[in-house]
Amino acid sequence: MEERGNISIHTENIFPIIKKFLYSDHEIFLRELVSNAVDATQKVKRLAAVGEYKGDLGELKVKVAVNKDERTITISDNGIGMTAEEIKKYINQIAFSGASEFVERFKDASGDKDQIIGQFGLGFYSAFMVADRVDIVTKSYQEGAEPARWTCDGSTEFSITDAQKEERGTDVILHIAPDSDEFLETARVRNILDKYCKFLPVPVEFEGEVINNPNPIWTKQPADLTDEDYKNFYKELYPFSEPPLFWIHLNVDYPFNLTGILYFPKIKNDFEIQRNKIQLYSRQVFITDEVKDVVPEFLMLLHGIIDSPDIPLNVSRSFLQADSSVKKINTYITKKVADKLNDIFKKDRETFEKNWNDINVFVKYGMLSDDKFYEKAKDFLLLQNTEGKYYTIEEYKALVQANQTNKSEQLVLLYTTDADKQHAFIEAAQSRSYDVLKLDSVIDSHFIGMLEQKLEKTTLKRVDSETIDKLVERDEAKESVLNDKEKEDLKTAYEQAINNQNMHVEVAPLSPDDAPVVITLPEFMRRMKDMSRTGGGGMMFMGDMPDTYNVTVNANHPLNQRVLNTNGDDQSAVARQAFDLALLSQNMLSGAALTTFVKRSFELMTKE
Ligand code: ADP
Repeated sequence: MEERGNISIHTENIFPIIKKFLYSDHEIFLRELVSNAVDATQKVKRLAAVGEYKGDLGELKVKVAVNKDERTITISDNGIGMTAEEIKKYINQIAFSGASEFVERFKDASGDKDQIIGQFGLGFYSAFMVADRVDIVTKSYQEGAEPARWTCDGSTEFSITDAQKEERGTDVILHIAPDSDEFLETARVRNILDKYCKFLPVPVEFEGEVINNPNPIWTKQPADLTDEDYKNFYKELYPFSEPPLFWIHLNVDYPFNLTGILYFPKIKNDFEIQRNKIQLYSRQVFITDEVKDVVPEFLMLLHGIIDSPDIPLNVSRSFLQADSSVKKINTYITKKVADKLNDIFKKDRETFEKNWNDINVFVKYGMLSDDKFYEKAKDFLLLQNTEGKYYTIEEYKALVQANQTNKSEQLVLLYTTDADKQHAFIEAAQSRSYDVLKLDSVIDSHFIGMLEQKLEKTTLKRVDSETIDKLVERDEAKESVLNDKEKEDLKTAYEQAINNQNMHVEVAPLSPDDAPVVITLPEFMRRMKDMSRTGGGGMMFMGDMPDTYNVTVNANHPLNQRVLNTNGDDQSAVARQAFDLALLSQNMLSGAALTTFVKRSFELMTKE
């Protein structure tokens, strides 16, 4: 028998179009053909299960073979096979309609063409991206079926002839085109198989060995798995990563179908580089590791696998964002992650605290970017103070309420971004029994703003943003031992000694035990500068402005009596010395200023 025919065509020259536009993603032909082969084996297995196929199933598997001399790649399966009639129906018509739909969509797409290419499963016809001729040799599972051979050279013409084939199943033979030599290299082919076929549900053999793990743990029941299983699987996915902190096994079949495992990695502060670690699968076929539109932004810090046949892979990005099942998936995953964290927090707070350093960036990022997550996370978010103790927001409020509520009934939460540098201020705060939080990760400047917005009657102040009396302002006015004239003189003395217009000097009555001079950078000023540095809030101009500090001179400190009681150069030297010591206590004295300070110290000591 020989039959020739024309593939019915309503788009001119479909193959050149496919070939040209799929350029960046040629390698997916292998994914498409191997998944077809896997599907064929699963179909015959199902038929056997329902008694429609009575023959011996044998060991179901797929083989991929490269023959460099003959310039072929062959994908073989012992699946369902096809009769000549079925080839006509499935290959000439169905497969073709997929291809022509692709071209139609591609022509209409404005802009984002790579996206369509990357996510559009072109099916069988993707073979023509790399082959100038494709043969199918196949024998149906049906009793007495005649084997058939289909040949097509990428034009719209095909032929079907009789064939020799003993075993049930299909061989797809690609005659690799001269411009696609790379696919005759076994290393390249192995690489592609590794990327797309690693977890296909049927053994895939290449060069005599099985290259996949057909039963990855996400397809199993959590009850059947141990912690070791999860850890080993993580190692399999990311051989060079540190072990994960914990994980979530996703498993839902209504209203959409989704399985997978998400791991919490150790995040630390370099979270930018850890993105794109979630792999998206559809029925165990790898699709992409760009899950930007499927997973909420903050969850991209997680690692692992999501497998869902319900994620539409054949539509453009804007469609995907609006797609209702994608939205549901987003919501589901967010909820699962929050529930898991809450669970660990409730059941094992010690472990939760131990891991907090690693997960705090993730939790805060989630709270900042997703209100629903915020609502859940606000109950397990932890605040750590300078003594290393952890509190939930509610616990912390209760802790500081009595001592840190100011005269306008605002609760003032104090924090440090650098416990070493701000040590003098922390100590001053502790001397009043204030508590100081450590908020020192990259995300904290945003996080602080969010807390203030969400928590009623609460402000956060960095511990060095004001003198101690002003951090938590009370009504009681402090007595000053100096009269107004003396205060004015003291101010002038310091202004002349400091001689810097970015240092605003004021004289205020602090306690005699407080430092004689305190240098602070006002909270609002620092925040605006922080914002301009991270490019937000229309504050770009602030970034170029020099820091303007407040220099508070303690009217009640005995040293300042001495400043008032000396004159001329001596007065200037003592005031400058006090100012330099204040700088030094904040790590702000260096270079020539430090050298001058050291010299002056020796001079002053010699004089005494
Ligand atoms: P899809 O797989 O999305 O249906 P394809 O273009 O990849 O589209 O394939 C079209 C049809 O050809 C399949 O639905 C299947 O019926 C048939 N087919 C393809 N490859 C095989 C195979 N190896 N064995 C049996 N049938 C196949």
